Amino acid sequence: MRISEAQELIRKIYGERDRKRGVKGTALHLGEELGELFRSLRTSDDDNLREEFADVLAWLLSLADLLSVDLESAFVERYGKGCPKCGSIPCRCPEV
Ligand SMILES: [Zn+2]
Repeated sequence: MRISEAQELIRKIYGERDRKRGVKGTALHLGEELGELFRSLRTSDDDNLREEFADVLAWLLSLADLLSVDLESAFVERYGKGCPKCGSIPCRCPEV
């Protein structure tokens, strides 16, 4: 599944609810899910880790969709030719 297809799927599943909840509420849910992902890094439950990654992506796609951001084209535009700063694959920026 392409990122654009995932965004369309999430829009079909949750679009109406996301629009009712709005940008701020949806952003808060994304933050919450990110917290859950971080928490699951502390355990060694691989199934749970997979679920949390999927949830973070779903909320990110919801938020992008609410703001009319096509995440696939935004990602390709930003990273499609390598590191946005140095333009290399792999990145050759000095490590910080
Ligand atoms: Zn770089």
